[in-house]
Amino acid sequence: ALRIGVLALQGAFIEHVHALNSLRGSECIGDVVEVRTAAELRSVDALIIPGGESTTMALIAERRGMLDELREFARTRPTWGTCAGLILLAHRAVHAKQGGQRLLEVLPVTVSRNQFGRQVDSFTATLDSPCLGEGAAPFEYVFIRAPAILSADSPEVQPLVRLPPGRGQAGAEAGADGLLVAVRYRNILGTSFHPELTSDNRWHRYFVQMAAAT
Ligand code: GLN
Repeated sequence: ALRIGVLALQGAFIEHVHALNSLRGSECIGDVVEVRTAAELRSVDALIIPGGESTTMALIAERRGMLDELREFARTRPTWGTCAGLILLAHRAVHAKQGGQRLLEVLPVTVSRNQFGRQVDSFTATLDSPCLGEGAAPFEYVFIRAPAILSADSPEVQPLVRLPPGRGQAGAEAGADGLLVAVRYRNILGTSFHPELTSDNRWHRYFVQMAAAT
């Protein structure tokens, strides 16, 4: 069974813990633990980096002296970044905080922070998600000051879900296919939405299965 950690420095970590606990029994989940120190990070097999505020999360991690270990972990072990967590994992962020922000730079994508506007511009979209299984029912995606993936910067980045044009997004970046909101790259899953805020735990199952196979 896998010991799964949720980075609990800041943001929406408790909801991820609940979503993982809801899968216990049906999936190969052992312990589900909150990770706040480098030692705790070393104890887990897989890690979720939650949504929240990417600049703040990076600052806290740095202050706790765990930024380099986080980078090392995410480079090789099953890691899922949602929203702010996706930004942290990215190689590059545009519309980033002035003066720059620390990124782990392990996922070769370019993200746009706050692509869809401010908190009040949060929205949901129900989209087909074939990666969740053949004939899977559509999933309801929650976007809160969400980033979008503007480009996949390696052929190894697999696109999983796109937000069709005209759904909560402005700007030419969207293109005809829409913006990428979920990708897989080696041991990394990156999603710009908040799957932990719905009772549908299929994305958590996807990650656990991916972690078990890694
Ligand atoms: N826009 C936030 C950031 O830059 C992320 C928002 C979220 O995680 N809901 O970190």
